Amino acid sequence: MSALDGLYQELILDHSKRPIGKGDLSDHPGARTASHHEFNPSCGDEIELSIAVDPATGRISQLAWQGQGCSISMASASILSQLVRDEEMTMDEARVKIAAFREMIQTRGEQEPDEDVLGDAVALQGVAKYVMRVKCAMLGWVALEADIAQVEAQASA
Ligand code: ZN
Repeated sequence: MSALDGLYQELILDHSKRPIGKGDLSDHPGARTASHHEFNPSCGDEIELSIAVDPATGRISQLAWQGQGCSISMASASILSQLVRDEEMTMDEARVKIAAFREMIQTRGEQEPDEDVLGDAVALQGVAKYVMRVKCAMLGWVALEADIAQVEAQASA
């Protein structure tokens, strides 16, 4: 195991023990909100991930989730929450990150992931080597993608 792998493992463990964003959405008067439940039958992970979006700016003002599962799925949701919280990103920016994360996880480390885009989520790049864990790592991100689609459907309704 390289020193980098060790650091990454520690980060993942840390997030799975003290997950960020776990809880309920607080009240966001005027915000558009969405919730999505995602289940990973191959591992038994599940997550219910909610967002609140400021309709004026398209920014995700809060992300909160509930769930249970393996440490990879929980750590990944926690890292995603931190990223959304720190960067106050728009839904479009979130979509770019989801795409970059999916590419990192699905290309099995053929490309160096962009840390500027993915932040601490690059710690999960090792997961790409284990086909069975890909869904674990993607769980929260897929739920966020579904939430964004819901909010956009509300916006165009
Ligand atoms: Zn799992």
